[in-house]
Amino acid sequence: MKLPEKVMLREVALRDGLQSLERFVPTAQKLEIIAALVAAGIRQVEATSFVSPRAVPQLRDAAAVMAGVPRDKAVYTALVPNLRGAQDAVAAGTDEIVVVISASEAHNRENIRRSIDESIAGLDNVFETALAAGVRVIGSVAVSFGCPFQGDVPEADVFAIVEQYVRRGAKSVILADTTGMADPIRVEKRVSTFREHFPDTRLILHFHNNRGIAMANLLAALQAGADCFDTSLGGIGGCPYVPRAAGNLATADVVFMLSEMGIDTGVDLEKLIAAARRLEEILGFTLPGQVMKSGPRDPRLAARICGVGGHHDGD
Ligand code: ZN
Repeated sequence: MKLPEKVMLREVALRDGLQSLERFVPTAQKLEIIAALVAAGIRQVEATSFVSPRAVPQLRDAAAVMAGVPRDKAVYTALVPNLRGAQDAVAAGTDEIVVVISASEAHNRENIRRSIDESIAGLDNVFETALAAGVRVIGSVAVSFGCPFQGDVPEADVFAIVEQYVRRGAKSVILADTTGMADPIRVEKRVSTFREHFPDTRLILHFHNNRGIAMANLLAALQAGADCFDTSLGGIGGCPYVPRAAGNLATADVVFMLSEMGIDTGVDLEKLIAAARRLEEILGFTLPGQVMKSGPRDPRLAARICGVGGHHDGD
């Protein structure tokens, strides 16, 4: 296996994970989780979204969150849907913003209520506003591996949007599997093509686990040379209550697998598990993450952190 020595994780629980939750998580608890993540060694935190409070009431405290994060300990990112969001994010002291366009027309209209061309036309002002203030821009391509409305998404459509981002000054691009339609072969192809065409742009993969193979997709991406992933504390993401569960890769699960494989993430698994369990306590329902329940391999450590015994049921 050809694998990187180091992997960078971008934590998205506070934005992608919380955005669809109805019960408002108080700002102080969001900040408590961010502080715990940073203390565990996470260095990239997507902390919120500067979006209309009517559209996403859960994130209506975006400016207060950004004002309360432990500065200089990590890079703090916010998603912005438009120029207004970019202005608010810059004013709030955000280090880096994320803009999103879907690679399928139908999904872009559903998600952002604009055509892809309209979204691209809106990029200029957003990039200018951010870059002029010294705020970096990450371009995200939603449904990069398949669209629930359209089905397959041609590679050319994905890379046409990547090109628009890079041309305007994005140094990092996210290819997002928004509804869990990727598989390891598709991932290997997308990652290889990306690295061929955009060797100077940092590629970030964002996998949702709707169909249970997000970790297999991560492994395929690693083998194709990717070394940066979006993960979510406890695996939250999408709607956690319904059968269409759409969680992200759980940060502790990824940290566990990578560290067992000898790949450095810079993250302390024990502290991360404690943060995930605290998030579960705050949210009040069982989170999909696995390692936060099973603990590390060392049975004594697992017993101490997670309260699980070393016995098993026969097979
Ligand atoms: Zn997502």
